[in-house]
Amino acid sequence: MKVIDYIQESKKPLFSFEIIPPLKGKGIEDIYAGIDPLIEFGPKFINVTYHREEYKYKDMGDGLLKKISIRKRPGTVGICAAIMNKYKVDAVPHLICGGFNVEETENALIDLKFLGVDNILALRGDPIKTEQVFTPNKGGHSYAIDLIKQIRDLNEGKYLDEEQKNSPTDFCIGAAGYPEKHFEAMNLDTDLKHLKAKVDAGAEYIMTQLFFDNKKYFAFVDKCRSIGIDVPIIPGLKPITTLRHRTFLPKFFHIDFPMELSKELEKCKSNEEVAKLGVEWTINQSKELIAKGAPVLHFYTMGKGKAVKSIASEIF
Ligand code: FAD
Repeated sequence: MKVIDYIQESKKPLFSFEIIPPLKGKGIEDIYAGIDPLIEFGPKFINVTYHREEYKYKDMGDGLLKKISIRKRPGTVGICAAIMNKYKVDAVPHLICGGFNVEETENALIDLKFLGVDNILALRGDPIKTEQVFTPNKGGHSYAIDLIKQIRDLNEGKYLDEEQKNSPTDFCIGAAGYPEKHFEAMNLDTDLKHLKAKVDAGAEYIMTQLFFDNKKYFAFVDKCRSIGIDVPIIPGLKPITTLRHRTFLPKFFHIDFPMELSKELEKCKSNEEVAKLGVEWTINQSKELIAKGAPVLHFYTMGKGKAVKSIASEIF
């Protein structure tokens, strides 16, 4: 079933979460171990991230450098199929522009359709380590909006021959939004202009980058509404669980901790203290978001379901 239909049919806020494919070489059991404790809270959908191929160059000893592909976290599509099969919960694969050309994207979409996937979160992807700026593959998309248009066009049966038209796709498309602005955008207004274009192109809901300051989410929703973005805006939440998160999360996700949270985090001396604070903070965020009408609470587990379980047991 489509994410947008779950939202429209539900009379209460929904619970969903995101998982990350395990590092190459690890088994699907790691994924199940992360999901199992959260199933009792009735997630309507589970997102599975996509990780682009990185490269390194190996000196072959004769002056030649060989390009070697590294896939640290492969398996997004297989994990989606496994989740739907085991838990009977909809999986939402993340599909990115980076690393694909248009034909490869179309093939991936057809695979997903055959697997029974109804939803896609359409993203551009970040630059990989060897790139200064995001660089599309030859014949690939430069922005998420181009991917959204490709999925929409496939849904509408454009470019399909008569036989293919008997089996159209009907994906529900989600797009990413950034309450604290995407890191490359010159300002929030231009970023929102591009976000509106994604919605006009066919995105049926927005899923936000993680944030710790609800005021920023509410201001973002208000700005979106003021420029005519009227689709559901799903807040993305992440409990802080380690001392390292104090610097990693703001740096990696280009977000700020509110002052009140920073002050409390500074006092923490151990991962346990941080995790306790992180869970309390996210519970308070969740309560306020629900009180003010958020359609879904979407949690980034980052492979650590324990903290999300503590929050879900208070909220759902
Ligand atoms: P876009 O919407 O294309 O925007 C990228 C930048 O370009 C923005 O600054 C925007 O303002 C600007 N822009 C957009 N259109 C135009 C235009 N026409 N002209 C000029 N500028 C334009 N990354 C992954 O690799 N894998 C994942 O699984 C993944 N999951 C994510 C899930 C969520 C909920 C979020 C919020 C992000 C996720 N990301 C993921 C990260 C995401 O890929 C990066 O943030 C990426 O840098 C931007 O992706 P986007 O889809 O927002 O891009």
